[in-house]
Amino acid sequence: MEDKIGFCTKLLHGSGAQRYAQREILPPISQVTAFSYESMEELEKVFAHKSMGYAYSRIGNPTLSAFEQKICELEGGMGAVSCSSGMSAISSALLAICESGDEIIAGSGLYGGSIDLFHDLEKLGIHTRFADRLDRETIGSLVTERTRAVFGELISNPSLTVLDLEEASEAAHEAGIPLLVDSTTATPYLANPLRMGADIVIHSTSKYINGGGNAIGGIIIDSGHFPWNFEKHTALSEFRKYGRMAFLLRLRADLWENLGGCMAPMNAFLSFIGADTLGLRMERICENADALARALNEEEGITVSYLTLPDHPCHAYVEKQLRGYGGGILTFRAGSKERAFRIINHLKYALIASNIGDLRTLVIHPASTLYVHSGKEGTEAAGVFEDTVRVSVGIEDKEDLVADFINAVRASREE
Ligand SMILES: *Cc1c(COP(=O)(O)O)cnc(C)c1O
Repeated sequence: MEDKIGFCTKLLHGSGAQRYAQREILPPISQVTAFSYESMEELEKVFAHKSMGYAYSRIGNPTLSAFEQKICELEGGMGAVSCSSGMSAISSALLAICESGDEIIAGSGLYGGSIDLFHDLEKLGIHTRFADRLDRETIGSLVTERTRAVFGELISNPSLTVLDLEEASEAAHEAGIPLLVDSTTATPYLANPLRMGADIVIHSTSKYINGGGNAIGGIIIDSGHFPWNFEKHTALSEFRKYGRMAFLLRLRADLWENLGGCMAPMNAFLSFIGADTLGLRMERICENADALARALNEEEGITVSYLTLPDHPCHAYVEKQLRGYGGGILTFRAGSKERAFRIINHLKYALIASNIGDLRTLVIHPASTLYVHSGKEGTEAAGVFEDTVRVSVGIEDKEDLVADFINAVRASREE
């Protein structure tokens, strides 16, 4: 039944909703470190996984469980593990699958933190081969007998390249490896990658899922469908008896628990209540972004990149994979760094901040901030130029937002 109800209904009334001890409407914030039991026998059973229960909040906590269940259900997964941040989720997921000597194939235009992480993994003996596009041919040409995972972002930021889930997952599966997708910018509202071939989905919940810009967090969702080969995926071999659940168990009972990157109960609560409005927010954000992109595109000397614009190279994926929406991020080129700065400084409502997915519209000049250490080549490969402005569109009234940007663009010409 759950698959037939709409997104917002499922968000509010999904299977986990309102099953709390005192009939609370929202999950109580279990702001505790440990849980106590009537007898030693009871705690023994909890440790042996023979009875349901919590022992210590790094390993499990009811507020975290409520949040995990909610996002897992939205994505159509088998299980989910929440993490202290998006980076914690990405590093835990990759380290659960890869060990020294193994290789990863990763798409280009990735989040800067993920690129840095791949460099860190080199020091642990895990090598990453980067692909310009994660299409069948490229994946096929980069696979070796040591490849253990393909990792890509569904909508890369800010280059706005869309990963073809069907093609990438088929190519990965032919090589016996799982496809991991960072779907932070797409959100579970625009796409459910697990339903389109991906095996593991990761979100930085700090962005659109929380939505209010008030808690760092991350989550890993496993489809539970990938047929692990334990001769090949030796990092999981101790968990072979769990079959297709081996990745979740390796995380939950081993690697994630031991790395210690658990989400804080208060952050799980804030992200839970934030997620309640995800559907509404994404509709509004995407509508605003589309209007802003079209309006800016009419302005002299301004070139906009946004997925719903017909000349965008990934335009076809709007219908194919993104529910007809273009997401909350757009970029435009202003002709020069100076003009880009003038426009940004003139904006009344958009905040100058290094974040995305807030209720408030945020702007940044990526070349002088997020990509300042990436070199010209790396920066341009990410679709960032000296004159690029990135906008993370918020939920302000469309008319005010468009007017603010148009005023700033026109004022920037006269100076
Ligand atoms: C922000 C972000 C991350 C990292 O998440 P944190 O919660 O900041 O650790 C990873 N991937 C993408 C696409 C992001 O936007």
